[in-house]
This record gives sequence, C-alpha cells and structure tokens, in this order.
Amino acid sequence: MENLRIPGPTPLPEDVLQAMTKQMINHRGPEFVGMLKGITTNLKQLFQTKNDVFVLTGSGTGGLEAVIVNTLSPGDKVLSIDIGVFGGRFAAIAKQFGAEVVPLKFEWGKAADADSIRQALQANPGVKAVLVTHNETSTGVTNDLAAISAVVKEFDKLLLVDAISSLGSINVPIDDWKLDVVVTGSQKGWMAPPGLAMVSVSEKAWKANSEAKMPRFYWDFVRARTYLERGQNPWTPAVSVLYALSLSLENMVKEGLPSIVNRHVKIAQATRVGVKSLGLSLFADEAYASNTVTAVAGSNGLDTKKLIQILRDEHQIILGGGQQKLDGKVFRIGHLGWVSEDNIKAVMAALKVALPKAGFGKGG
Ligand SMILES: *Cc1c(COP(=O)(O)O)cnc(C)c1O
Repeated sequence: MENLRIPGPTPLPEDVLQAMTKQMINHRGPEFVGMLKGITTNLKQLFQTKNDVFVLTGSGTGGLEAVIVNTLSPGDKVLSIDIGVFGGRFAAIAKQFGAEVVPLKFEWGKAADADSIRQALQANPGVKAVLVTHNETSTGVTNDLAAISAVVKEFDKLLLVDAISSLGSINVPIDDWKLDVVVTGSQKGWMAPPGLAMVSVSEKAWKANSEAKMPRFYWDFVRARTYLERGQNPWTPAVSVLYALSLSLENMVKEGLPSIVNRHVKIAQATRVGVKSLGLSLFADEAYASNTVTAVAGSNGLDTKKLIQILRDEHQIILGGGQQKLDGKVFRIGHLGWVSEDNIKAVMAALKVALPKAGFGKGG
C-alpha cells in the first residue's frame, strides 16, 4: 500500500472510508439535521470554543476567502503576517477583494516575531484586522500564536487565523487565545477527505461582519448561521464527506484532544530525530518546527526532486516537494491526522536507501 506522507490529503482509516459508501440522504431532512448537530458539537469541543462553528463545502482556501469577505470592507487596512506560501495566499485574497494590505514578511523557515508585530501595529494605527497563518505548511514552521494574539489584543484588533494544517493536531485553544475567526480544512488533521472547510466566528467577528461590505453570497456567514439554527447548510453540502467527518470526529472525541496533540508531538519528534540522524538538516528554525509537517533542506548534493521520484517509484512513499521559491530546495514529510510511528519509520528506512541515489553526500 502507498504511504501517502504529504501534508494533506492524508490517508483515511478504513471505517472512515466505509462511511462514505452510505446512500445519499435528504439534506433538508431530519437525519441530516442530527448529523450536522453532532458534527458541530464535536467540532466545538475539538476547537475548544464556545464561538459559532460552521462547516462550509469547499477547500481550505474557500474558507480563507470566507473569512476575508465576511469581516472586511474594500479599503480596510489589514496587517498580513507572512512567513511562507500560505501567508502570501491569505494576503492575496484580501487584496483581491479590495483590502489595503500592509505586509509584514519574515524570512522563510523562521517564525513571526511578536515585537515586530507590535511595532507594525504602532506604526499603522488604522489597521482593522491582522491575518496570520498558525502553521505554515510550506516551510514547516508553527508560529507562536499565543504570543501573537497577546500583541494583537493589546491593540484590540480583529485576529483572523489560517489554522488549516494545525487545528485538530496541534493545540489551538481558540477561546483562551481570543482568536476571532479560525479556519481549518477536512483533509489535514481531521482524518477526512478534502472538501470541507470548518470555521469558528467570535462575537467580535460578528460585530465586524455587521459592518463588512465585501461582496459575498456562497460564503455568507449570516446565511450559514440562519440555516444552522435549523440544522442545515444554506446550499447542498458535500454529504459523503460529511459522513466521513462525522465518524472521524466521533473517533477523535473518543481519543481525546490531549492524546491527539501528544501523538503529533511524538511523531514529529521522531521525524526530526530521524532526518537529522541521516545527516539531513531541517529547513525550519527548530524552536518553531511544526508537529504536522517537516520540511527538510536539500543539502550536500541532494537533488530533492529526484529523491521524491525514487521514493515514489521504488518505495511507494509519497512526499511533498517545495512550493514557489522552495521548488527543488526542500522536501516535506506530512505527519498529521492518520499517521503512525511505523509510517515514519518506513520513510526513514527508504530515505536511507534513496538518499545516496539522489546525490546526497556528493557535496554541493
Ligand atoms: C492546505 C493549506 C491551505 C490550502 O487549503 P486547500 O484545502 O488546499 O485550499 C491553506 N493554508 C494552509 C496553512 C494549508 O496547509
């Protein structure tokens, strides 16, 4: 069997796969209402929030667009904390819908620095919202979101968070950290297929929503709230993916969030120890290395693209490549959602064989 080790979609447990073979139901009928209520309750528990939580049909990027158009107006100034590809995407969406984006970029591989954020907010008193990626999947860095939130709340700004590849795997206490809108995606840590974005919306975000003028129809949170009151979605949802999510959430609640978080900590540590023992170096600043994805630097003659190809063709192991300016410079190992220590051991064993074939050790 293929060992799919990209940072989403992840492999799915057998019971979750089977859940998707169920016959369709009426998305306006009582059975659906029961399912959506269960999903919403379990999500609130795993999100550690009392805020409203919606399940939107769309990928994570759709969720990011929903966040922007529901909280902002054209001309609003936003501070974009950008440490990689996904930080750039969040800012690009805001810009596309007419926000005035003040970029605050950090070197790729590094985390955002809270003092620099404070200075940027002091220098830009007109900022309405701060955009931040919690876990930057392209570089394997997890920002210190508690520290960032503390600074943003000193200035009483709206905090909009892409937690697509962290929520459900890494601890993100939404209410304790006062995160106003938070997005995640079903194919990342949730052991479900792609197709759903899940978002939480705070009181402060609802206040912003009541003044927000960006155009929206499909993503409208007010419609989502009105329909959720009757246990429905405004539009026909991805019913089969909801079957899968419903079961995976039940499994996650049974396992318990502390155990899930701890499992990701251990597997990430094993991954980092493993790659370093092979003589490779982490791309990320290790103090902020992600517990859901490890980016490994191409060093010492290593052709990362060739490595990925050898692992795929000769070992049935699928790793992620580098995105944008990291193309050909890093490879990435996903270790989120349904992943075991054995999956990672298999990656390490295959790397040991494949690295010399991909030029590693030949200098350069
Ligand atoms: C995967 C990912 C996205 C994009 O999600 P899609 O489901 O591919 O649209 C955005 N941000 C982060 C941090 C991600 O990991």
